[in-house]
Amino acid sequence: MAGNKLRPQRRRTRQGLLIEQAVMSLRNHPSARAVYASLSEEGVAMATVYRQLARMVEEGVLNSFEHLGETRYDTNLEPHAHAVCTACEQIWDVPLPKIEGPEPHELPLATIEDVDLTFRGLCPACARNQ
Ligand SMILES: [Zn+2]
Ligand SMILES: [Zn+2]
Repeated sequence: MAGNKLRPQRRRTRQGLLIEQAVMSLRNHPSARAVYASLSEEGVAMATVYRQLARMVEEGVLNSFEHLGETRYDTNLEPHAHAVCTACEQIWDVPLPKIEGPEPHELPLATIEDVDLTFRGLCPACARNQ
């Protein structure tokens, strides 16, 4: 790396790289806090984690969505739905089901950029403990 001139637009600091590797290896839709926690040995600042994750979303290599008032990060860039356990709050990727309607003329939108679909319920382990 020494003396290597890096192009500014994809430049990653050592910490930026650590954060990228951490979020890409956490396949459970982590929050910034969870990414930060997984880097506790590395001495990376929380603000640096937030900044790096926001940059990756801007670059289109990471998706983000709101879950219970918290931003979660998603490494799966293919269209998919989510299944959420309301007890343990785990989030799984599930295939997007075929949905009947609304018909295009019923949508008050000129374009559709994104569909957000979440199934909520109890996972088998939490259902057993009810
Ligand atoms: Zn559960
Ligand atoms: Zn997902």
